Amino acid sequence: MENQNFFLNCQKQFLDIANKLNLKTEIIEELKEPQRIIKFQIPIKTDNGKKKVFFGFRSQHNNALGPYKGGIRFHQNVSEDEVKALSMLMTWKCSLLNLPFGGGKGGIIVNPKELSKKELEKLSRGYVKAIFPFLGENIDIPAPDVNTNAQIMEWMIDEYFKLTGKKSFAAFTGKPLNLWGLEGREEATGYGGVVILKKLANTFKLNPQKTTIAIQGFGNVGSNFAYFAQKEGYKIIAVSEVDNGIFKEDGLNIEEILECKKRTGKISICIKNFDKEITNKQLLELNVDVLVLAAVENVISKNNAEKIKAKYIIEMANGPITPDAEGILEKRKIFSVPDILSNSGGVVASYFEWIQSKEKNRWKKEKTFVELSKKLSKSFDEVFFLSKKKKINLREASYILSVDKVAKSIK
Ligand code: GLU
Repeated sequence: MENQNFFLNCQKQFLDIANKLNLKTEIIEELKEPQRIIKFQIPIKTDNGKKKVFFGFRSQHNNALGPYKGGIRFHQNVSEDEVKALSMLMTWKCSLLNLPFGGGKGGIIVNPKELSKKELEKLSRGYVKAIFPFLGENIDIPAPDVNTNAQIMEWMIDEYFKLTGKKSFAAFTGKPLNLWGLEGREEATGYGGVVILKKLANTFKLNPQKTTIAIQGFGNVGSNFAYFAQKEGYKIIAVSEVDNGIFKEDGLNIEEILECKKRTGKISICIKNFDKEITNKQLLELNVDVLVLAAVENVISKNNAEKIKAKYIIEMANGPITPDAEGILEKRKIFSVPDILSNSGGVVASYFEWIQSKEKNRWKKEKTFVELSKKLSKSFDEVFFLSKKKKINLREASYILSVDKVAKSIK
C-alpha cells in the first residue's frame, strides 16, 4: 500500500510538471509508466540444502537520453511499485545532471541480514541469470543501492561475463577497483550531499561551526555524509539507524562512531560517546538547522510534517518526503533540497566509472571528487536560479529542468 502510494506520488509529481510544460499526451503516456518492467523468480539452494524462491524486479523507465541506469536494492519491502517509482526518479536524476543515461531500478524482496555470504552470492548471480539479455553497457547498467555494495556488483558482473562470454566492464558500476571500479564511488553519494550542504550554506550564509545537523540513516550514504560534513566543520548532533539513534548536544565524534560501527556492527553500542539514545521519530523532530534524510522513502508524511523543526532538509534517500508533507513544510518555510539533486553524487560517480571502464583509463580519487563537485554545483545553481526566477520550490525547478530535457529528446 505504502509503495503503491509512493509510485502514485511520483507519477503525480511528474503529471503536475507535464501539465505546466504543456507536454503532448503521447509523451505523457510514455513517461508516466516504465517502458518495461521485468518480474522474475530467483530460486536458490540455501545452506541447509533446501530450495528457496526469491522475487526480483527490474524496472526500465525511459531510455530517451541513453541506456537505463540505476541501482539494485535488497530489502524486504521491495515491490513492483517501489522499483517503478525509483526508476522514474532515476530518469529525472540523470537528466537533471546531464548524464547520457535513462532511468532504471531493480530489487529483490529479501532481508539480506538473514542470508549467509554464500546464499547472498547465489542470489546475486541468480538475479543476473534471470535478466542478463536485458542488461549491458549500452542497454541497462545496474549499480549498488540499499543493502548492496561492490562485492555484490562483483558477483553480478562475473555472472554477466560468464553468461555473455564478453568482458564488458562498463555493464555494471559501483564495482571493486580491480574490475575497473572507481576510486571514490563508494563515498560519492554522501560526498555529493555535502557539496549540496556547502552550496546551501553559501546561499543562506550559514556558519558551519554553528550549524547543527541530524542525520537519519547511517548506511553508506548517511555515514559518508556525516564524515565529510564533520570534516567541513559542521556539528552533527544526532545520527540514527533502523532501530534507534544517538544524540550529543555538543556534537558527536563521527570518526569514533564509524570505527565503533565497524567493530560492533551497531552505532548504539558505542554508548560512552553520546548523551542519550533517541528514536527515529525523535531524531526527525529535533530542533536542528539541517535535517538529512538518508534512510528510506516516505519518512516525512502529513502525520509528522507539522512537527519538523529543522530549517533546512536535504533529501539523501529517494522520495523521503510525501507530496502532502512537502506542501506543509513549504507553508512552514522549511527549505528542502530534492533527492534528484542532492543524492545524485552516486550516479554521477557511476557515470565517471562507466567512462573509465570503457576507456580503461584510471581516474584518481581527487579527480572524481573535483569533477563531482563541479557537476553538482552547476546543477544546484541552475535549479536555484530557476526557482528564484519562477518563485517555485527547488523540487519543481529541478523537475521542470529534467522532465523538459527528456520530453525534448523523445520529440
Ligand atoms: N542507487 C543510486 C541512486 O539511487 C546510484 C545509481 C547508479 O549509480 O546507477 O542514485
